[in-house]
Amino acid sequence: MEISVINQLNDRYENDETITSLERKRLIDDIYKYSSDSNEPNTIARSLVNLSNFQLNNGEVELALKNANHAFELSKKHHLDNVQRRVCNLLGNIQSYYGRYGIALDYYHQSLRIAQHLDMKGSIAAILNNIATLYEAFNMGEQAVKYYISAQTAAKSEHNYKLTIMITHNIINHYFKQGKIENVRQQLDAMGELITHKSDVSEYNALFLINSSRYLFLQEEYEAALVSSNEARALFQKVDDAIGLRECQMMDSRIYDALGDYDKAYEMGSALAVSSEEIGDFDAEREARLFIHQLTDKITFRSGIVENYKRLMVLDESLLNNLYEMSLYQIEGKIDTDLQEQLKRDSDRLMENMSFINEVAKDLAKELDYDTLVKLIITKMASFVEFDALVLGLYDEARELLYNRMTYENGEIKESYDVPLSNKSSMGTWVIRHRTEYYTGYLSHLVLDDFEPLNKNFQNISVPYETIYYSPLIIDEKVIGVFSLQRYTINGYDHAQIEMMRALSSYIAIAIANALKTAQMKELNDRLKTISKQDGLSGLLNRYALNEDVGIILEAFNRQKRKLSTLMCDIDFFKEYNDDYGHLEGDKVIKTVAQILKETCNETTPYIYRYGGDEFMVVFLDSDEENVAAIAQHILISVSDVNMPHLEKGINGKVSVSIGLAYFEVSNEALNEDDLLRSADISLYISKRKGRNQARSMKF
Ligand code: GH3
Ligand code: MG
Repeated sequence: MEISVINQLNDRYENDETITSLERKRLIDDIYKYSSDSNEPNTIARSLVNLSNFQLNNGEVELALKNANHAFELSKKHHLDNVQRRVCNLLGNIQSYYGRYGIALDYYHQSLRIAQHLDMKGSIAAILNNIATLYEAFNMGEQAVKYYISAQTAAKSEHNYKLTIMITHNIINHYFKQGKIENVRQQLDAMGELITHKSDVSEYNALFLINSSRYLFLQEEYEAALVSSNEARALFQKVDDAIGLRECQMMDSRIYDALGDYDKAYEMGSALAVSSEEIGDFDAEREARLFIHQLTDKITFRSGIVENYKRLMVLDESLLNNLYEMSLYQIEGKIDTDLQEQLKRDSDRLMENMSFINEVAKDLAKELDYDTLVKLIITKMASFVEFDALVLGLYDEARELLYNRMTYENGEIKESYDVPLSNKSSMGTWVIRHRTEYYTGYLSHLVLDDFEPLNKNFQNISVPYETIYYSPLIIDEKVIGVFSLQRYTINGYDHAQIEMMRALSSYIAIAIANALKTAQMKELNDRLKTISKQDGLSGLLNRYALNEDVGIILEAFNRQKRKLSTLMCDIDFFKEYNDDYGHLEGDKVIKTVAQILKETCNETTPYIYRYGGDEFMVVFLDSDEENVAAIAQHILISVSDVNMPHLEKGINGKVSVSIGLAYFEVSNEALNEDDLLRSADISLYISKRKGRNQARSMKF
């Protein structure tokens, strides 16, 4: 194949704007086919650049990089300046795609140098625009505008309408994000004039419409902005412009936000973030995520918000990594030194902060004991941010109460207290009522609806804190507490610090919710345990509990050689009582006797059981015989004193009990479970035989 034919094909690929994507694909296939048996370096290199360009545009980025690198080598070896200029620009695009902005910027500058050196009109504008886009991605607004405007001027003098419109579009987007309505209007007018030249091309009209939408938005004409954006979307769809469609979606999310439909704004923004993430458009993803993040205060809490924030952190981290790299190696001498230093400082600090958040989140999540968790939060916070007071409190929705509100100041945890939700002097209850965080650098100047600082009502109370960050802790849309950091000084925190506190607040909320859940589970468990050890009717411990405790008691007697006595108590003629007065009345008697046992023995021993039926058992450790005997007498008298009539069968016409006691002498022989439980039985039997309503004892 003639070289001239391949060159014609390449010319057509590079310059013909009217060909369809299908034709473009055929064209590139031909270029690839014919140039593979060419041995003319310029033709091969040029074909490779076009092939790579096509591949990049069609998502085959790996292949694009391979071919571009190949073209780069060829162009260097054979001093093919024009190819080199193009390939540098292309490599810049590829590296940008991968998010390696520092390297990308270096390629762009190389490309720019060649173009300027050779005074290549017709190629400088595109490179300048690419450089500007990178600065834009770094939020380096001033640099971005500088390059955009140079790019725009260059594009005009190159008579490249398409590029001029694209650059103008970028500039409008830039000013739009900064809310500079006058600049947006000027640029939109300029774009409008350009469009009249090319009014038949829907792509340009779509750009004009989306920018009109932006302008209307800034004018607060939201409905009109929505109409414009919808028209733009239809045109973008027609020309299959995915980037344009994403811009429309972002625009619509902002409009719904402005119209107060926060849920819809959230849904659209989230969908955009996800789809941008999927195709790797990190700038669009970051913009969407930042937008969602800013919605946080307006919508009810969803777990997606935390996820979103984490992802935003990841994006920022890679951005900062690049920024850091860039400021160190890539653009030395290309941007002002002080800017470079500031960048390094900022990125250092943010990097530090982000790894801190990660580390803290992990540590906090592990701690399940609330009190320990509180201490951990204090130490972790103190390690990264200065504060004169840290406040943590829990919120009980049912009781409408901020409880356990604790302040840590001057190195110690102050006693905590409760605050009713209705309290107007508390910033804590204010943030709960409003479900929103609050930051003020001048508390003394603070005028807030629904808030009456202490010193307003009590002039002699001075609140020393001027800077206050206060945040509700929210989990699953429920406020579970509050968190606050406070300083004596005015304007104590900057934006980055507040961002961090905000991030940490969500982790603190999660950790506290976990700790509370654990505490609740523990309490429930403990309660279940006592319930299963408790006798329902009498409230005393049951037989099961005695079986459990026997081990401890025998250990005390056999090994620790402590004194041991048992007391068995049985209601007299209880069968008859039931028969005469009914089971319900019988139950009352059991309860009364149990109550007497409890009152009489409680101070001496915890081992008081309902052994079964009308039988009770008490075990004494470390008590003298006389003492135990006195207790038994006391029980007999107390039961008698209650005067529960038992007319037919009872002793003296009332309810009585009989008691058997067993005293165990410390001996070398080990006492076993059976002996312990049975010994008092013998004396009880004697009490019954000897006429009931009495206590008998035996020594063992
Ligand atoms: P004694 O003086 O010889 O002890 O005679 P007694 O009638 O009390 O005989 P015993 O201790 O063997 O009788 C226990 C009775 O207690 C049998 C049963 O009807 C009654 N009883 C057991 N548990 C309950 C209970 O939970 N509520 C009521 N109301 N009665 C019970
Ligand atoms: Mg009985």
